[in-house]
Amino acid sequence: MKVVEIQSKIQDLRDQLIFWENHLKDVQSNCDHHFEGESLYQKCTKCQKVVALYY
Ligand SMILES: [Zn+2]
Repeated sequence: MKVVEIQSKIQDLRDQLIFWENHLKDVQSNCDHHFEGESLYQKCTKCQKVVALYY
């Protein structure tokens, strides 16, 4: 495999990563969250979004 092919593959994967991260953000921002969890953080049982209660 040539270096340029590897670089091209890496770029493809980066593009896919950005796509899926944005898709996840969309899903999580459209979720009517149902949080459960510990005292330090809670996790939505529907979309897995985590919120920290203390910083
Ligand atoms: Zn949620």
